[in-house]
Amino acid sequence: MGDTTAWLMLAAGDDRARASNDGYDDDPSSHYSWDDTVPNHGKPKKGDVIVLWDKTYLLGASVIEAVDEGTAEKDSHSCPRCDKARIETRTTVLPRLKCYNCGHEFDVPRTRRKTVKTYRTRHGAGWVELEGRLDGARLRSLCLSPKSQLSLRPLDYDRFHAALDGDLALAPLEAAADYVAGGHATAVVRVRRGQSAFRGKLLALYGNECAFSGPAPADALEAAHLYSYAEVGEHKKEGGFLLRRDLHRLFDRGLFAVRPDTWLLDVHVDIRHLQDYGQLHGKPLGVDLTRAQREWLRTHWEQARPTSPEAA
Ligand SMILES: [Zn+2]
Repeated sequence: MGDTTAWLMLAAGDDRARASNDGYDDDPSSHYSWDDTVPNHGKPKKGDVIVLWDKTYLLGASVIEAVDEGTAEKDSHSCPRCDKARIETRTTVLPRLKCYNCGHEFDVPRTRRKTVKTYRTRHGAGWVELEGRLDGARLRSLCLSPKSQLSLRPLDYDRFHAALDGDLALAPLEAAADYVAGGHATAVVRVRRGQSAFRGKLLALYGNECAFSGPAPADALEAAHLYSYAEVGEHKKEGGFLLRRDLHRLFDRGLFAVRPDTWLLDVHVDIRHLQDYGQLHGKPLGVDLTRAQREWLRTHWEQARPTSPEAA
């Protein structure tokens, strides 16, 4: 990921909900929208890394699979006297609005409807949750211009990577980046929390058993929905397991994997010293694997342990 272009994008906060525009729709884990009223609007592209924050903390990161462009009608509001867009909305005083620029107070702003060019990323394949792992000050310091106030700002990917103490957390992102760049033959495999009906089906099939650690209270078990990005942006269902909540997360990060030569659990060396996890290393799974699940676990292994000889 040597010469990776990365963007820090503001997912929520003052700039995204101010009185002078009508907001955006975002789901940080799969897409992000902006329009051509934003500086740098035309620059983020397929293959770039997208890092989302909420001004206080890091939320997560991914790689852009595509940027869909379109047009939309957008209302912008300004002061009826000086026409500037910096308007304060007041909750306890009337009139409700006040211009920051000229001090004019008013109830009805000047409204212009204009056509804007819209941009919307697709980035679900590589998404990693990193909530709270870095704070806003640290993220600003990793930008190419630390004093930037823009909602789309260039970020130094290598320093971001280093700030997260190595590459483990970013492994799914980097597997997706290889895939987007065409450097990887296999589809990207991801784990997601399944729908409740799907969970019910798995509970009926497997009972109150985590596939990795054995008996567990039903409340601690999640439906790990196994799927691969057959084509970027599209996901194909493969099946599922019941996994204890923490193991589900560690599996998605590649810290837990299943060896395709023995079908035994492999706990990453970085967490093997923790007794709860280390004692599972080398143990068999508690469920019989279907052929589809074996294929899926093999691909997961190749992503999670790319340098291991068993991946070949
Ligand atoms: Zn004004």
